[in-house]
Amino acid sequence: MARIRGAGVSIGAGGSVPLSADHSTDAKWLARAIDLATANVASGGGPFGALVVRDGGLIAEGQNRVTSSLDPTAHAEVVAIRAACLAVGDFSLDGATLYTSCEPCPLCLSAALWARIGRVVYAADRDDAAYGGFDDREFYELFSRPRSEWPVPIVSVRPANATAPFEAWLANEARTRY
Ligand code: ZN
Repeated sequence: MARIRGAGVSIGAGGSVPLSADHSTDAKWLARAIDLATANVASGGGPFGALVVRDGGLIAEGQNRVTSSLDPTAHAEVVAIRAACLAVGDFSLDGATLYTSCEPCPLCLSAALWARIGRVVYAADRDDAAYGGFDDREFYELFSRPRSEWPVPIVSVRPANATAPFEAWLANEARTRY
């Protein structure tokens, strides 16, 4: 039996991030994320939904689109982050909260960090995802092991000009930092 956490709210962004003062607000947005996830199954997609909220207002929603868009990176959180960035016209979602029906996988957690999301709140967790047949927990465990033990070789080749792109970047005074 899966470990389903009813109306529980888990905070996945680390202990330094303060809890919301209003957990009923978290519960409301999480309920929406879960609805999105469940509805997506009925549409033939994966059971994941997410949304980006800032200052109490919804910026964008996302549902898993891996199979329909032939995009293995089209996880609900990534879809929501992309839509939110387009909606606000910025590559930063600083101060926003990412609500997701399931604990973000390493890809989505990284996407949240790159987007400068301020807080992540999730419902189900990696064990629930494993129950559903998904690899989130497996990937987390993989990342915790030495690369020498990975089934996929991750190879570093370092030609003489390996850092040339960074030198070009640093030399470009008009660069847009992110
Ligand atoms: Zn993901």
